[in-house]
Amino acid sequence: GEDGEIDFKEEVAQHLKKGEAVSDFAKSKSLAQQRQYLPIFSVRDELLQVVRENQVVVVVGETGSGKTTQLTQYLHEDGYTNSGIIGCTQPRRVAAMSVAKRVSEEMETELGNLVGYAIRFEDVTGPKTVIKYMTDGVLLRETLKDADLDKYRVVVMDEAHERSLSTDVLFGILKKVVARRRDFKLIVTSATLNAQKFSNFFGSVPIFHIPGRTFPVQTLYSKTPCEDYVEAAVKQAMTIHITSPPGDILIFMTGQDEIEATCYALQERMEQFVSTTRAKVTNNLLILPIYSQLPADLQAKIFEKPEDGARKCIVATNIAETSLTVDGVYYVIDTGYGKMKVYNPRMGMDALQVFPVSRAAADQRAGRAGRTGPGTCYRLYTETAYQNELLPQPVPEIQRTNLGNVVLLLKSLKVDNLLDFDFMDPPPQDNILNSMYQLWVLGALSNTGSLTDLGWKMVEFPLDPALAKMLLMGSQLECLNEVLTIVSMLSVPSVFFRPKDRAEESDAAREKFFVPESDHLTLLNVYQQWKANQYRGDWCNDHYLQVKGLKKAREVRSQLLDILKTLKIPLTSCGPDWDIVRKAICSAYFHNAARLKGVGEYVNCRNGMPCHLHPSSALYGLGYTPDYVVYHELLLTTKEYMQCATSVEPQWLAVLGPMFFSVKDSDTSMLEHKKKQKEEKSAMEEEMETLRKQQGEAEIR
Ligand code: ADP
Ligand code: MG
Repeated sequence: GEDGEIDFKEEVAQHLKKGEAVSDFAKSKSLAQQRQYLPIFSVRDELLQVVRENQVVVVVGETGSGKTTQLTQYLHEDGYTNSGIIGCTQPRRVAAMSVAKRVSEEMETELGNLVGYAIRFEDVTGPKTVIKYMTDGVLLRETLKDADLDKYRVVVMDEAHERSLSTDVLFGILKKVVARRRDFKLIVTSATLNAQKFSNFFGSVPIFHIPGRTFPVQTLYSKTPCEDYVEAAVKQAMTIHITSPPGDILIFMTGQDEIEATCYALQERMEQFVSTTRAKVTNNLLILPIYSQLPADLQAKIFEKPEDGARKCIVATNIAETSLTVDGVYYVIDTGYGKMKVYNPRMGMDALQVFPVSRAAADQRAGRAGRTGPGTCYRLYTETAYQNELLPQPVPEIQRTNLGNVVLLLKSLKVDNLLDFDFMDPPPQDNILNSMYQLWVLGALSNTGSLTDLGWKMVEFPLDPALAKMLLMGSQLECLNEVLTIVSMLSVPSVFFRPKDRAEESDAAREKFFVPESDHLTLLNVYQQWKANQYRGDWCNDHYLQVKGLKKAREVRSQLLDILKTLKIPLTSCGPDWDIVRKAICSAYFHNAARLKGVGEYVNCRNGMPCHLHPSSALYGLGYTPDYVVYHELLLTTKEYMQCATSVEPQWLAVLGPMFFSVKDSDTSMLEHKKKQKEEKSAMEEEMETLRKQQGEAEIR
């Protein structure tokens, strides 16, 4: 509420004086001195002692206490890197990159030398690397090649409280490594206090607490539920900037689109304010977005000190909740929402959806305002909502998402019965069964639930099962070169550049690339034309394409090609006849098939869910909308939009996805085929029924 904020101003102003002294101190000190100022430094020796005496230790400390950046360095300084390397996992790519960069600066070494990072499709480590930051997904894949993780002397599982899917699976795997290798050490870090659970899981291991050094944060609630939190946040930020003492602002939004909208609105409002009031706002407002898809150089900007003493306003996703710490934040504006990947049983797949955050997350967000001095958190929701509508803790990802990749991975690690696996919180049986069913439908699992030849090959690729299948079908249908490009393009953010002030020109530029049957083929066309123009950057700019995205796609492509080479799969091409490519796409995405209902309006063939052709789709270029399409994923915004759609022949659906579809005209061989598939389906159902029973028993026991 706005009145609350005025009452509190005096108090903030007083506290700020102290706070400023602290941040000036930090600014004027060298990196080495800054390291010594972190809370973790005061307990460095005790911490190292506990690690020496125990194989597994849980470390708990406030965000910003130095866990991520310091622990690895302490271990290095204590000699652990004489006989192996130190790995530190992060649930988020941005965090892995940004922290590695920071640590390499602190150690005065170039990134990729002593300190490096690895994320999917990007490995910035070298032969000298002893501290390796990586996403938990990367370490999980490494266990496929080296079950004992022999090159690691210590693994720090950072941000364990996030309970990401890969972290949860790693818990079970690393517990075995700990049992097998006496020389291996594991450190689990957590920002919150549910550390006891981690300790219990590893057999009541010690919990080490880093003493906190935080300032009180005043929390102010909205008096009424707010209707448009982007608008409310912009207004709140403006009010703070105009009326409150110095101190940076941190706004939590749910995703890229909202962040961009907020930054845009805030910028506009500031300019308006300055021009209409002719007021000379003493300081400028430096508006900085941060989200995972933002290019690295722009991400780094949030840590820079503005030269002209401007106030920073960082607009972030929940990445800034615990993974990244920016000093100097005195004001937090919390929308109370975040995006989460959840399995939607109605759609039969995962979707990123906006949800209210948990109370634990809301408190974590508020705490970000009290790092440098006493701060204020403005919650854009009511106190009643906080008390009654928010869950106390977030639901772990493993209990809410599709487990396709996890099942595939565990099966290849010879965990045949998924119930035997040591999960800290086992996933609901429906999730396991659904994922098994989907893998069976894709042909990765046999009727008895073991990996098929196709399944074994699919595991080799760091891709979602459906994308891996598409690649392998590209090989089978002899259009691998084309499919490889499409898969790579689907693995990077959209390459089309659409600035708001040049929407028409950029749309026109995009239309020139349209292949009217298919958005997938449109991506292929873009890539091939880029290649024909010597992969030139200026060519991209002329055609409203993002150079960075295309370069990334090229890197991804070359890495996938390496994997194909090791599997001895030849790079076939279908030349200019792209119909077969659509068939390959269809063979992996028939579960996302939709039938035409009205202009641009479709329904999912399996469950009748409505879905719409995206306004930017190439398929509008056909002049008519095709009867059947398959799509890459469903985008939930104002409507359910099919992201990346391709027209397909209904016969393909019947042949490639017979467990779902049938054709009306009776073709005997087709009927035979269908009958066989039907039998297989019931065999699989039986198998799953058995599993279900076992699980029931396991739960009773
Ligand atoms: P924790 O993991 O306990 O939350 P960190 O080790 O991430 O703490 O952060 C310790 C300090 O290092 C913080 O004050 C943070 O601001 C600073 N820091 C971390 N990453 C960067 C970076 N990329 N640039 C500048 N400062 C950073
Ligand atoms: Mg950290």
